[in-house]
Order: sequence, then C-alpha cells, then structure tokens
Amino acid sequence: MKPILVWIENDLRLSDHAPFAAAAETGAPIVPVFVWNGGEGWADGAASRWWLHHSLEAFSNSLGDAGLPLILRRGDPERILPEMASQLNAAGVFWHERPDPLRAERDDGIQRRLETDGRTVRRFGGALLHNPDNIQTTSGGPYRVFTPFYRRFREEVAVDQPFGRPDFEAGSAEVRGDTLDELGLLPKIDWAGGLRDTWTPGELSAHGRLGAQDLSGYGDRRDTPSEDGTSRLSPHLHFGELSPRQAWHGAGRIEAFRRQLVWRDFAHHLIHHFPETRWEPLNGDFRKFPWRHDEEDLQRWQSGRTGYPMVDAGMRQLWETGWMHNRVRMIVASFLTKHLLHSWRHGQDWFNDTLVDADLANNVFGWQWAGGCGADAQPFFRIFNPITQGQKFDPQGTYVKRWVPELRDVPVDVLFEPWKSDAVPASYPKPIVEHKSARERALAAYQKTRS
Ligand code: FAD
Repeated sequence: MKPILVWIENDLRLSDHAPFAAAAETGAPIVPVFVWNGGEGWADGAASRWWLHHSLEAFSNSLGDAGLPLILRRGDPERILPEMASQLNAAGVFWHERPDPLRAERDDGIQRRLETDGRTVRRFGGALLHNPDNIQTTSGGPYRVFTPFYRRFREEVAVDQPFGRPDFEAGSAEVRGDTLDELGLLPKIDWAGGLRDTWTPGELSAHGRLGAQDLSGYGDRRDTPSEDGTSRLSPHLHFGELSPRQAWHGAGRIEAFRRQLVWRDFAHHLIHHFPETRWEPLNGDFRKFPWRHDEEDLQRWQSGRTGYPMVDAGMRQLWETGWMHNRVRMIVASFLTKHLLHSWRHGQDWFNDTLVDADLANNVFGWQWAGGCGADAQPFFRIFNPITQGQKFDPQGTYVKRWVPELRDVPVDVLFEPWKSDAVPASYPKPIVEHKSARERALAAYQKTRS
C-alpha cells in the first residue's frame, strides 16, 4: 500500500491528532516528516528553538516506540514535501492547519502542487477551539472586542471531546533525513540552564502538568505571581504537545480557566482577520504616535534594571526561565510602552526571543493590548502604576524578593519604592524615570494621536 506522509509542525503530539488519526484509518503505512525552515514566526526566537529541539526529541522517541521513525528535513517545505511525496510514491499528504494567514497561502501552494502530482491532500483544524471564520458579529464581520466574542463563543461553540492516539501502521521510509543536531536549534553558548531547570518539553510532560494540577482555585489565584496558580501550559499549547480541547476538557469545568483558552482563540481570531496587525497596531491612530528609541533604556528594561522592583522581577524571571506570569507581563509591557514610550514592537521582539511560549498571535495581541493600541478595552491613558501594582499583587513581596534578591532586606512597606529605604544596596539602580512625570509625558504623547 502506498504510504501517507503526515507533515508535522507545531502539533508535536500523538493523541488528539487528526492527521495521524485520518492516516491510520486508511490502513496505509505512515511517514511523519518535520521540515525546519527557520521558524517563520512560530519558532524563530532562541528560547523557542531550545524548546523545539527537546520537544522534537521527545516526539521522535514516542514515534519510534510506535514504530514510526520521524524524518527531519531542513529547507523549504514547498520544495521538500512534493519531492519526498514523489520519492516515496505517497498516496497523500495530511497536515494540521496553522491559523496564520501567511501560512495558509503557502499551504494552498503546496496543496496545488501535490494535487497536480495526483496526491490526496487533507488539511485539518485543531490548533484552536474554533475556526476563526465561524464566529462573526451580528452584522457579519470579525470581532474586535473580547467580551462579546466570548459571549458568542460560549453560546455557539461546543468544544468536542479529544480522542486518543491511533493504532499506527508502521512505515519504513526509504528517505534520507537530517539529524536533530543538524537542525542547529540549540544555542552555541549554553545559556539554557534556567530553562532546563524549569521545563520538560514534550507531550508526556504536558499531560503530566495538566493531570497534576488542581486549578479549582484558579479564579482567585491567577493574579498572584508568587503562587503557582496558573497552568503554565502555554509552551505546551504553543508547540501543540497538548491540543486546546485536551486542556479545555482535561482541566475540569473551571470557567475562569476556559475563559483564558478563549482569549487564546480570540488573539488568533484577530491575527487571522487583521493580518497586518503583526506589523501595525490595530488602532490606526497609533501610526502617528511619537515613540522614542533609547537603546540604553531598552537594555535596562530587558535586563531587569529599571529600578522598579515589580518590572525588574518580571524581566529577570523571563530571562531565567523563559516565562513570565501574565499579570507581570501586563505590568512590564505597560512600563515599556507608556513609562519609556518604546514601541510595542520592541517589547514583542524581546518576548519573541526570550519566551518559551512565544506565539505570534498571543504576543502581538498582548503587546497591543497592554500598549493601548490594540483591540480591546485597555485605552492608552490607563497607565499601570508599577508601585501600586506591586503592592496589590505581591503584598508580601515574595515574588520580588525571589527574582530581585538584592532587595531581600528591604521592608515590604517600601519594597516597591526602594529609593525610600536605606536597606537597598548600591548595586540596585535608581529609578529609570520618575513615575508621575513619565505618566504625564505619556499622556502628552497620546494627545498627538488625537490631533
Ligand atoms: P493560564 O492562565 O493557565 O491560561 C491557560 C492558557 O490560556 C495559556 O496557556 C494560554 O495559552 C492561554 N492564555 C492565557 N492568557 C492569555 C492571553 N491574555 N492571551 C492569549 N492567550 C492566553 N501567551 C502566549 O502563549 N505566548 C505569548 O507570546 C504571549 N505574549 C504575551 C505578551 C504580553 C505583553 C501579554 C500581556 C501576554 C502575553 N501572553 C502570551 C498571554 C499570557 O500572558 C500567557 O498565555 C500566560 O501567562 C501563560 O501562562 P499559563 O499557561 O500559566 O496561563
């Protein structure tokens, strides 16, 4: 029987995997192939590549146990897939869609080429809970605001139950592949110790995390960065080691958690319908915004040396672990775009390089939201105060003292304004800007978008 190629990208799992299930149903031998073309907006940052290396290793081992060797190839899938399909005389090529309009265009081209060669092509959804074209406003267009999107989602979308892994017909692929090391995903100088200590990429680990967590207190704990109160499933979801519906059904009926999964769908809904937002803010007024660029300020923000403890703690957590708590992501993003007046794109770039969960749709959405130039109800003039945010969400200072250890002796009543304390070592920087005047400067800049 002619084999079926299953083209893998960020769907590195065996269960709830529609292309594998459909290929297994045909009874044909299956040949899974992963093509590395530099990341192309879904794995182009250094931390993502680290994750991808280890995730591919785990995936390849699981496939090997099921009798299916994973073929790795470097190069352009538009060339490699038709070439491999012809070499193997494959009956068809199946894959998961990635909800990215640029990717969809490329997939259309690959599909045409394969079909011209007489092969069956099947493309499946599965990266999101819903198809971004299937939810529309009452007047028939895409949503731009989350709350009505969420309401419609809950009214109309029934999230299907995930399915298990199929029984595979082993394929023996007579094609030469590259080795994992030849993909060159790992850093040349090993800076990834913190990532190794924090994460175990792979489907098994994703399910371990999902199964081990009690998210019943999620609604109350999700805003406290010192607690392990959120799922930390974001990189597993991004790399498709876990499907969103596995997360939806696997975490129990916790509406506050499910709502976050709908935020993820919403971010993808936006980039699907407004693909230009990867470069331009959704709110067109911000094309006129007088952003600053000061390399020294940017570096102080990146390295967690702004003199604002809550911002610095977040940036250091990110550098060390490749992840940052959502509340703190909002604080540091507001600080960069409003206190320092740096474009959201500088922040998005840094996050893209350093986050293990770096995801084009979520990252663009998060930055434009926090920067007040995006889709939702966070107008620019609502400026997060990094002092009161710290007092409110880290009242004991546990989070700050963990990530900014030089502040460990500072009493908590002045911890978020350390310039008021004598217990701050000289090595901790003075504030990069004064909060009140930075706020006024931001509001004055905002006025220019209105004129
Ligand atoms: P949980 O609270 O357990 O939520 C469960 C899942 O829901 C997450 O894993 C994630 O997939 C999804 N989710 C949660 N919050 C959001 C949100 N606000 N928007 C979209 N999806 C969400 N998330 C990314 O996955 N990749 C990014 O590159 C990214 N960049 C961000 C940049 C900024 C400036 C901001 C403010 C947020 C960003 N987020 C991003 C969203 C959010 O911070 C992370 O998804 C979340 O912190 C991941 O932790 P968790 O898995 O414990 O989340």
